[in-house]
Amino acid sequence: MEGLFDLEPAQAEERFVALGGRPFHARIARERVLAGGEREYAGMTSLPAGLRDRLGVQLPILVGAELGRRRAPDGTVKLLVGFGDGVAVETVHIPSRTRGRGATLCVSTQAGCPVGCPFCASGKEGLARNLTTGEIVEQFLRGLDVGPLSRAVVMGVGEPLLNVENLVRALEIVRAELGIGSRRITVSTVGFPDRVRRLAAHEPRFQLAISLHTVDQEQRDQLVPAMAGIPIDEVLAAGDAWFEATGREVTYEYVLLGGANDTAGHAERLAARLAGKRATVNLIPYNPIAAEEWHRPSRERVDAFAQALVSRGLVATVRWSRGVEGDAACGQLRLERARA
Ligand code: SAH
Ligand code: SF4
Repeated sequence: MEGLFDLEPAQAEERFVALGGRPFHARIARERVLAGGEREYAGMTSLPAGLRDRLGVQLPILVGAELGRRRAPDGTVKLLVGFGDGVAVETVHIPSRTRGRGATLCVSTQAGCPVGCPFCASGKEGLARNLTTGEIVEQFLRGLDVGPLSRAVVMGVGEPLLNVENLVRALEIVRAELGIGSRRITVSTVGFPDRVRRLAAHEPRFQLAISLHTVDQEQRDQLVPAMAGIPIDEVLAAGDAWFEATGREVTYEYVLLGGANDTAGHAERLAARLAGKRATVNLIPYNPIAAEEWHRPSRERVDAFAQALVSRGLVATVRWSRGVEGDAACGQLRLERARA
């Protein structure tokens, strides 16, 4: 069902008028939701009662429902949000390690994912459909209801650049009306070169992370199936183009799959390919999703991989997924439901 945030402000005004209201009622409603924390028309007493009732039925503010919630001991809260046609996605609220510094919200862009990376829970059942702009905004509203937000990462279920129009519209609302600056919003993608270049031309600029995982072509074709046939060189060239166009460094994400892409040779080849680039490598130790062919590498091995990059002049960080205790790693709650 279509919701308030699926409409551009001018379209919302028209719809409010069609439902018997006035254009300024639409402006009030948006404002009360985005700035005032209101989540239902019922509390908006400056709108006529009849209009509120009709809006509640025909243009709801929230179109989804919270189907599940898990809180990990570190405070990470993972929401499973269901939408009318039976699809569900995950939204994760990750408090800053520094108290009072807000939180990062991890949002989804698609119900499922067509890319099919074999190590990822989100790709297991393929793509159901793209999320609408309103459904992406709704995740932010639900995240805000858990606690204040200072950053956002588009790293939940789905491949953002395959739903880029709806995503960009949603992020524009988030930036302009929820006050999360574009420098604090990171979009993570497998790096379709044309789409990366197109997004680089978009103002305002977000931060970009490209999931690389290996610089061995054959292995990447297996780890990121929808990218098979697209040369890694083209992905890296698109990353360079991003830096040139935006002045912002690309982060290359690298899921460390124990027994597959975590050897000294892999680190060496990665460092050689990225040499001279202004880029950061973010190492993500694999978070086991099922009985798979990989394991999470030991802390020593992860450190050694990072050290190998650093000693060759790269900037490397390690991201141990938060909230693993509560199965709060992205994609897992959803997969459990699908399989139940
Ligand atoms: N589709 C986009 C964004 C969503 S995935 C992308 O792939 O970049 C966000 C990040 O989580 C990606 O870097 C992805 O490789 C990583 N990821 C997926 N499954 C994982 C797992 N089981 N363990 C660790 N990281 C995983
Ligand atoms: Fe899709 Fe990203 Fe998961 Fe790959 S890692 S299947 S692109 S969500």
